[in-house]
Amino acid sequence: MSDNINQPANQTNNQKNVQSLTQPLTHDDIRNFVPPTHCLDGKTILVTGAGDGIGRVAALTYARYGATVLLLGRTSSKLEYVYDEIESLGGKQPAMLPMNLEGATYAEMQQLEGLIDKEVGQLDGILHNAGVLGQLTPLEMYDVDTFAQVMKVNFTATFMLTQALLPLLKDADHGSIVFTSSTVGTHPRAFWGAYALSKQAVEGMSDIFTQETQNTTNLRFNCINPGATRTNMRAHAYPGENPMSLKTPEDIMAGYVCLMSDASIGVRGQVVELQPKD
Ligand code: NDP
Repeated sequence: MSDNINQPANQTNNQKNVQSLTQPLTHDDIRNFVPPTHCLDGKTILVTGAGDGIGRVAALTYARYGATVLLLGRTSSKLEYVYDEIESLGGKQPAMLPMNLEGATYAEMQQLEGLIDKEVGQLDGILHNAGVLGQLTPLEMYDVDTFAQVMKVNFTATFMLTQALLPLLKDADHGSIVFTSSTVGTHPRAFWGAYALSKQAVEGMSDIFTQETQNTTNLRFNCINPGATRTNMRAHAYPGENPMSLKTPEDIMAGYVCLMSDASIGVRGQVVELQPKD
């Protein structure tokens, strides 16, 4: 996928981009975005995996910039903690949506859509952030149940939730769907098994959604690759690494805010690396 975001994936010159009224931002612009104070005012953003790691910090950051944040995660006590943190920083009242994406059914996700519609009335963005690592082992030895679990949480549930929430997102003026990829999603690597495959699938899904919606809706679909970030998942993947050598989730939030704010209108079908190697 190209780094030139002025020409979204598979868009030909004679196709009109519904959104592109001004020149879209470059990946550097996105990484180095300086968010205006109220840049997410009036927006409602759902964050999956909002109880910990990057998702927790993204939820707090979106609230800090004015969004109403819907906190989806599997551990209620963690969501409650983030809820309290948002209240104490003076953010708009969030909502907690406890859901285990591993077992969640499509019917439950449709119910969630109805609930958000009834109780909140709008949805402007989703950050699909929840993820599991699975095993780091050769495919030949990969446990098939773990394989299915990783694919469900990282990919299939992400697809199901996106589809179930599309009616609300289409009603938004400029809906933004941000998927989370990884370097091994863009460049598959030995021993990364289902994790790498699930992230590859997520990148493909973002590309397909982009092609299917870019001429008829104002929705934008993009992937974000946070790069090495100091979280529990990273510590599990690299137990010998010094965590203090890594960026924190707070350090990489500019890109997360940018892709949800109207500054990124026109940015479609991209995989934005937040910590590119030179
Ligand atoms: P963490 O493990 O710190 O956090 C993952 C979050 O996902 C947790 O809140 C967790 O909930 C939630 N989650 C896991 N399984 C489920 C489930 N079945 N249902 C609902 N929620 C679930 O990971 P990171 O913050 O590091 O990762 C966030 C995203 O960034 C992931 O998609 C990851 O693949 C990606 N990424 C991370 C990198 C890094 O270096 N950290 C690098 C590249 C990509 P709970 O806390 O309740 O378990």
